[in-house]
Amino acid sequence: MRAAHENPPSNPPQAIPFAWYPDPMARAAALRAFQRRLEASQWLPPEKIDHWQRRRLSVLLAHASAHSPYYKRQLSNLPRDFAKDASVNLQDIPILTRDVLQDEYAEICTTAWPARHGPAGETQTSGSTGQPVKVKRTGLCQMHWLALTLRDHLWHERDFSASMAVIRAPVGHGGDKAAFMPMWGEAVNVVARSGPTHFLPISTDVNRQAEWLSQLNPGYLLTYPTNLAELLRIAEQGRLPLPGLREIRTIGETLSGSVRDECSRLLGVPVTDLYSSQELGIMALQCPVSSHYHVQSESVLLEILSDAGEPCRPGEVGRIVVTDLHNFATPLIRYELRDYAEAGPPCPCGRGLPTLRRILGRRRNMVVLPDGKRHWPLVGFQQFREVVPALKQYQLIQRTPKQIEARLVVAGNITSEQEGALTRVIQDALGYPFELRFDYRAKELHRTHGGKFEEFICQLDRFRGDGMHE
Ligand SMILES: [Zn+2]
Repeated sequence: MRAAHENPPSNPPQAIPFAWYPDPMARAAALRAFQRRLEASQWLPPEKIDHWQRRRLSVLLAHASAHSPYYKRQLSNLPRDFAKDASVNLQDIPILTRDVLQDEYAEICTTAWPARHGPAGETQTSGSTGQPVKVKRTGLCQMHWLALTLRDHLWHERDFSASMAVIRAPVGHGGDKAAFMPMWGEAVNVVARSGPTHFLPISTDVNRQAEWLSQLNPGYLLTYPTNLAELLRIAEQGRLPLPGLREIRTIGETLSGSVRDECSRLLGVPVTDLYSSQELGIMALQCPVSSHYHVQSESVLLEILSDAGEPCRPGEVGRIVVTDLHNFATPLIRYELRDYAEAGPPCPCGRGLPTLRRILGRRRNMVVLPDGKRHWPLVGFQQFREVVPALKQYQLIQRTPKQIEARLVVAGNITSEQEGALTRVIQDALGYPFELRFDYRAKELHRTHGGKFEEFICQLDRFRGDGMHE
């Protein structure tokens, strides 16, 4: 590893663009070189990817234990010579929880990092409850974000000349207003001149969103799955003609199979999902061949762990724990995101990158049965609207082991027969005859500050301070 005081490189090296370049031209050249590496590394056999990750992890552990007061303490029981010993047992490294990251942030951050990683900026997750989490991310982390964004575009063979419409929470700039950029962003610029990006804040009324989209007639749309589900209601009424649309991209929330199917049925386009967080950047991209997500192993080491802390086998569901292999400013080593996923099998596309079959969302989105068992509810707008066509929005909240609060926004009145039918559909979806308490709301239910919406929230263990992030 280079010394922390070393000057940034003036020219990108030919083969290894693992550095941040302040000059945009040098950065673009480094990103192109990075892309060529990623094109090759995705096909490596899993053992080679694993071996490479172990070496990166050793370097990260050595850096963290030398420059982070928190990790100096935490890693004191591990072999000291990390850089020479790539055989560190992952299970011996303690999990970093969100609570610890909040409480010990200053101690976790390092006092120095290699100059080639570039300057660090502080990013903050939105957090619907409890404190948001802060993380410093370096220029090198940003390079990874850009390179993996470009990989996503290339995997899905997007037409860079088309326009991109984005409906989401504002990110960093632009404020809570509609905005326009003449291009898709830096990730694409390094390989092509792109079409424009049109941005609309997620707080915009969904009918207004539909008018805006119809006027733009974009080639691509990026938004959250629950917002997409609301747009699909408008499409169903024939009020969302988008003849130029080629693909919808989703971020930020769990994407259900029914939303995918409805997009295909109502808009005639595929949906491509992306798994990312503010703290860790892009962690998994949807495979262009299968429906699986590929872990972005060149950037993160992603584990899926059972309740006992053992790695899950394909088909098993567990909690996601992620190590950012390149963040040397706020090391996130075995960071528990509180999302759950199902481990996937090797992908038929031939890429060696590990797979996730499904990303299931947060523990707090699981229903708890009176016997203490948990599962993900099969909630879904479509099935609820079959019994209450005037239903505009819903949210289910579990506050006690046997009772569910159903917040409903309904256009007009609902009959007692409909309420009874809805009760049965909800009980079916939740897998238990819960007592339902209906709460009718006149106004749209709020999203979090980050623009997210949760259809089911369990508050039985809210003392855990389970927040939500990007
Ligand atoms: Zn694949």
